[in-house]
Amino acid sequence: MRQIQVRFESQIGLLYLKTSAFPRTIISRKKMLEIVWKNVFSFILYHYLAFHGLFYLVTGHTHWATFAFNLFLAQLSNLGTISGAHRLWTHRSYQAQLPLKLFLMFCNNISNQNSIYDWVRDHRVHHKFSDTDADPHNIKRGFFFAHMGWLMVRKHPEVTIKGQTLDFSDIDSDKLIQFQRKYFKFLAFFCSIFLPVVVPWYYWGENWYVSLCITFVRYVGTLHGTWLVNSAAHVYGTRPYDSDIKPTENPIVAYITMGEGWHNYHHTFPWDYRASEFDSFNGNVNTVFINFMAKVGLAHGLKTASLSLIQRKKLKSTNSTTNKKQLQK
Ligand SMILES: [Zn+2]
Ligand SMILES: [Zn+2]
Repeated sequence: MRQIQVRFESQIGLLYLKTSAFPRTIISRKKMLEIVWKNVFSFILYHYLAFHGLFYLVTGHTHWATFAFNLFLAQLSNLGTISGAHRLWTHRSYQAQLPLKLFLMFCNNISNQNSIYDWVRDHRVHHKFSDTDADPHNIKRGFFFAHMGWLMVRKHPEVTIKGQTLDFSDIDSDKLIQFQRKYFKFLAFFCSIFLPVVVPWYYWGENWYVSLCITFVRYVGTLHGTWLVNSAAHVYGTRPYDSDIKPTENPIVAYITMGEGWHNYHHTFPWDYRASEFDSFNGNVNTVFINFMAKVGLAHGLKTASLSLIQRKKLKSTNSTTNKKQLQK
């Protein structure tokens, strides 16, 4: 048996997942579905606290300011994941000045959805090998797997093997990203859990346990929001830009995630900073935010797909759908 060649590690929240990649031939089916129990139990704990928090919310056992504060943090968290890790660092769909990068990194710590480095790595692999075994959250393995199950089992070896063929030199050499990666456990705990629990307790006398539970309502809620892009927006919705791929246009996910549900468009034109054809609001708060940053001079080089290219792709997709329907008759 050949020795392990590479390690593929990823963090999610307070969890730390480790996966060793073996040559494909010696991986058994059982090994491919090996459950990481530590992560399973952590998710159960997170959801227990979140449900407890929901109970406090609906029964009026929490200060209104605690709710408002966590709602505000959820917006920041979303900017850190979507405008930061996704549109800036994964797809390089626009350029940002240092103050904006620092702000987005801070927001990313609040979101606590992997370090920027790990998020970028997983997401680039997802785009490149979408809906195959090399996709970390391959929708063909089921809705639950794509949603959150992939974080509870060891990664498929194809993810590691094929993932290593991609270019990560930009994030390897980015000092800010490397800094956050190095101290991520502390930064994420401090920004995502510790501060949000302490601020309501200290400033308006919230019970610390209630504050903890509301913090987990926010955290678990934002996790599910992001996960819906990998699950629901790969199953439910229309495919006007490319009918041959799984990602869909899903308005509900778009509104929940502040602009990430226009996923068929995004997979077709991943370099477009809007992650949507339309400039108008459409729930796309992140596009509004990036536009504003560009106006005040903190963002530049915003990339978009040209209207003629979009029209050509739409026409091609329509023809492909028509051909498929005729073949089925
Ligand atoms: Zn996707
Ligand atoms: Zn993407």
